[in-house]
Amino acid sequence: MRRAIYPGTFDPITNGHLDILRKATGIFEEVVLAVANVTGKSTFFSFDERVDICRRCCEGIPNVRVEGFDSLVVDFARKIGAVTMIRGLRAVSDFEYELQLALMNRMLDRGLETIFLVPDHNYLYLSSSMVRQIVRLGGSLDDFVPKLVEERLHKQFQVVDKPVSV
Ligand code: ADP
Repeated sequence: MRRAIYPGTFDPITNGHLDILRKATGIFEEVVLAVANVTGKSTFFSFDERVDICRRCCEGIPNVRVEGFDSLVVDFARKIGAVTMIRGLRAVSDFEYELQLALMNRMLDRGLETIFLVPDHNYLYLSSSMVRQIVRLGGSLDDFVPKLVEERLHKQFQVVDKPVSV
């Protein structure tokens, strides 16, 4: 079976991520969307929440499995038998980091190749951080994330922004 891994932080998952995922399922027999626990950055949603949100958003997409991991991506890919890693390329600004990551991962495991997929043009400027910013400022996320993600964002902002009572 040609199995691919699509790793990321997914903080939260957006329509851009889902677009890449759908494109990947047209190429591979199974795609494992792998949610990183240790990301090197502090996240808005907890690891468990990010995994849960991704699972719910991927429910209707055939041949997709959502897993959390807290090791090196190459080690997790080997563990699940993935031979290809999917990454999304938006603008030129993604390129340098993504190239570095792909080359480093190849040094760590020559058996895992990285493939870059490009999203539909309307997702080219969409990122998880942009989505968090829009919801913080009260904008509509209709075109950017599934309804469930928008609800979770609002809920989480109520928790985060609540004044601390003394
Ligand atoms: P990471 O922290 O590993 O970069 P992200 O969750 O931000 O994880 O993104 C995972 C992958 O999805 C990355 O390859 C990123 O470039 C890609 N990606 C993020 N947003 C989009 C988008 N709107 N369109 C296409 N690819 C995207």
